[in-house]
Amino acid sequence: MELRGVIRTDREMSDGRTIRYYDSKVTERNAVDKRPKEEQPGIGELRFDPLVNEWIAISAHRQNRIFLPPKELCPLCPTTSDELLTEIPETDYEVVVFDNKSPSLRPPLGDNALPDYAGPETDEGKAIGKCEVIVFNSDHGQSFCDLSETQVRTLLEAWRDRTYELSKEPFIRHIAPFENRGEEIGVTLHHPHGQIYAYSYLPPRVEKMLAAAKRYKHEFGRVLFDEIVKREIADKVRIVCQNEHWIAYVPYAARYPYEIHVAPIAPVADLTELTSEQCDSYPKIALEVMKRLDGVYGVPMAYIAAWHQAPVREGRDLLRLHWQITSVRRAPGKLKYLAGSESAMGAFIMDVTPEQSAAQLREVKL
Ligand SMILES: [Zn+2]
Repeated sequence: MELRGVIRTDREMSDGRTIRYYDSKVTERNAVDKRPKEEQPGIGELRFDPLVNEWIAISAHRQNRIFLPPKELCPLCPTTSDELLTEIPETDYEVVVFDNKSPSLRPPLGDNALPDYAGPETDEGKAIGKCEVIVFNSDHGQSFCDLSETQVRTLLEAWRDRTYELSKEPFIRHIAPFENRGEEIGVTLHHPHGQIYAYSYLPPRVEKMLAAAKRYKHEFGRVLFDEIVKREIADKVRIVCQNEHWIAYVPYAARYPYEIHVAPIAPVADLTELTSEQCDSYPKIALEVMKRLDGVYGVPMAYIAAWHQAPVREGRDLLRLHWQITSVRRAPGKLKYLAGSESAMGAFIMDVTPEQSAAQLREVKL
């Protein structure tokens, strides 16, 4: 895949991990990681939960991760003095992606096949995959919604490039870039950043979406997601905003007080398939959506923003790219907790109608 308007420079970190700089203009990236070499933790296990047919990655070494450090100790800030050598050796950067220091999933050393199904007797597997950290901006105090359109465009190109590169790995089946924002949902670092999880198995939600898309295709001969977007365009009431190439809407059966799906109007399977025009018009709608979200209560909204893409090698003609933003905030100072019905039963109950939620988002004065 050719990068559009962005240059990538790969460097090796002291412990052998790779850091990739994505720049919108030619910039020399030759700062050296001066930290001592560190032993990397081993690969975790993958255990099969036969009650629901789901894989659970167990990576016990992650308990010691750094938790909400003050700005002076932030590992995602640029390295500005020898006193604090961060993950990023350069004194400034635009967007960087590096291999996670405590990954839940790791590339395999040998065999990468999943164990065969045997109900409760299913063998333990290895937590194979890849976890990367993507830092949106060198400025510690900013958020996604503070980025300029050019910065979001660079970020999108980095997501696209990582999807393309990770898709080439034979052990990767699904790639999910996402961002968690807000302490309410367990963010451990304030610096604006996201993660890229590349799984060696289909995550449960993707498996479910694929089954739903297959059923619809079988019964109605069409691609489910395309029909959903058509319906949202026809219904209008749940649209939050749109432009020539993208539409943002609250889904008809949203699960969270604020849930927005942002999708290209001309469907594509994944980030790598976006046209230049689609890429160039993404920053505007992405920033508008995030500003509307923050505008609802006038306080930064905690959210999870995740890219849903078609899996790497299956369901490519059935699943479509979209960006799903969900927030558990339901009022200032009030969060929706996933309690009994949602957590124990997986049955969501919504206190507001998706139409009300969409209207609130539309009415925010930007
Ligand atoms: Zn920072």
